[in-house]
Amino acid sequence: MAYELKMPQLGLTMEEGTVSKWVKKEGDAVKVGDVIVEITTDKLTNEVVSEAEGTLLKIVAQEGDDVPVKGTLAWIGKPGEAVGGAAPAPAAAPAVPFAPAPAAAPAKPAGDKKIIVVGGGPGGYVAAIRAAQLGAKVTVVEREHLGGTCLNIGCIPTKCLLHSAELVNDIKEQGPDIGVKVSGVEVDFPQVIKHKNEISKKLTSGIAGLFKMNKVAKVDGEAKFVAPGKLSVKKADGSTEEMTADAIIVATGSINAIPPIPGLKENPNCIDSTGALSLEKLPKSMVVIGAGVIGLELACAYAAFGTKITVVEALDHMLPMLDGDLTKIGVAHMKKMGMEFNLECPVQRVEKSSVGAKVVCKNKEGKEVAFEAEKVLVAVGRRANTAMLDLDAGKLDNDRGRIKVNDKMETSVPGVYAIGDCVMGYAQLAHTASAMGEVAAENIMGIEAHYDQKTNPTCVYIEPEAASVGLTEEQCKEQGLAYKVGKFPMAANGKALILNGGEGVVKIIAGKEYGEILGMHIIGPRATDLIAEGALAIGEEMTLDEIIATIHSHPTVTEAMREAALQAEKRAIHTSNK
Ligand code: NAD
Repeated sequence: MAYELKMPQLGLTMEEGTVSKWVKKEGDAVKVGDVIVEITTDKLTNEVVSEAEGTLLKIVAQEGDDVPVKGTLAWIGKPGEAVGGAAPAPAAAPAVPFAPAPAAAPAKPAGDKKIIVVGGGPGGYVAAIRAAQLGAKVTVVEREHLGGTCLNIGCIPTKCLLHSAELVNDIKEQGPDIGVKVSGVEVDFPQVIKHKNEISKKLTSGIAGLFKMNKVAKVDGEAKFVAPGKLSVKKADGSTEEMTADAIIVATGSINAIPPIPGLKENPNCIDSTGALSLEKLPKSMVVIGAGVIGLELACAYAAFGTKITVVEALDHMLPMLDGDLTKIGVAHMKKMGMEFNLECPVQRVEKSSVGAKVVCKNKEGKEVAFEAEKVLVAVGRRANTAMLDLDAGKLDNDRGRIKVNDKMETSVPGVYAIGDCVMGYAQLAHTASAMGEVAAENIMGIEAHYDQKTNPTCVYIEPEAASVGLTEEQCKEQGLAYKVGKFPMAANGKALILNGGEGVVKIIAGKEYGEILGMHIIGPRATDLIAEGALAIGEEMTLDEIIATIHSHPTVTEAMREAALQAEKRAIHTSNK
């Protein structure tokens, strides 16, 4: 059988390409590496080369045809050899857990559309503002405070603590080396908490202002479904109101999961992340149950403040969402900060202790080991906050409370959408929720939009920061992809050297043949800001060449991104190309 020339995938998000020009015609002799055809996507034009020698036997797709990735473009072989001839299959629709619900009613003019958003976190408030911009009459039902977990008891408060911790750490650790001598540096912990509260307050009142500006109404109360598309809202003033709308967006977020560990609930020294963000006094010691993002971020902050940290984790690894190279650097640094890690050490029970609490675990040898501390931080995951919603009454398909949606954020009920931490199958991140919120609002308002998680970065605020977008090397291997890797150590970047002594690395993963960016992974100073370049590169289906062709300013940590791309092409200037 002849060699099948296929439409290449020139970027993670590419689904199809257009045949723009046949460079060879049927009957032409073809050598390996010869350009056969030019194809274009909405973002780039590329040449497709042959990997086989012979004659161009048959052109299957004509100039102007749209062909899905891996669809047949042509056949190359010996004259007379058998060829397949199927016309290219139409591009497949993106996979969704169920067919999108049909539209509930004929389209109304935008200004007449009423939308209820349940929950005012980063998913809900963004959805509300976007829908209002598009002309809808929007009401947000919120039982607690605007800004949700992120602004009040999650991302922003944690980053406040981490910033105070970083400052203390820098003065103590880096100060003497960089010529900054400060005596008597101490942590005023109540002030750390006060500052955090002030930042949260500023941001949440900012949302109230944005609601006013966009004419978004707010009802203080708790909503639950009483029928599909119908809510009952118990208001703060004690009254109850039934509410319906043209569309409902469920954005109720998630809550900390409390595992059924004997002795845990009863012990007041066992706290969750919310508790850890509002302690009155700095604890001398803390056992952290769970080496996930929440556990490790808070552990880093408290370790820098001087708390003795012991982490216990049931699995044999930490931070599975990060590329292995990043995790190694992060863990080594956390150990240097004095944190102690106990992997494969599931918690069996919590006992009373004069210190605070005693966490009893089973280690990998099967023996019981105990860790005592003033506080125990329980960080074993978060679950969808939907118990009070009565999903059964609303007839919303769900998996243990996580609502099933398609990539338009439609649920199984026409006119009901769900976004953020309460939906199934996506990362529980604030920026994910906000992106989903805009998608839901636009679809309701008649602008077709799809949530695409390929450009969704993961940011972990450990010390040093880590961030990741696209595929990890482990995932490339699992998927059998042909890839190349470029790495650039922060130690070779002037700005990183100044900022943190040059700890960290940038790692770029690109397709072996075309150099399309498949993944970017960064650990080091500014990693969580730098990752936006990676997300943009993946979203725009960029190649290593395009990153290399972009001048990155000096002296900045961003130079490390370009150098990593250069290293993937074996042309790095400031590091070895081996
Ligand atoms: P997680 O699932 O990331 O980690 C929990 C860890 O606890 C796991 O490694 C698990 O193996 C371990 N564990 C569970 N039971 C245990 C037991 N009995 N004994 C010992 N170990 C046990 O959960 P998380 O860290 O709580 O985070 C929850 C969610 O919040 C995640 O989806 C995360 O992405 C999100 N989040 C993200 C950020 C960020 O992006 N910076 C920050 C905070 C939270």
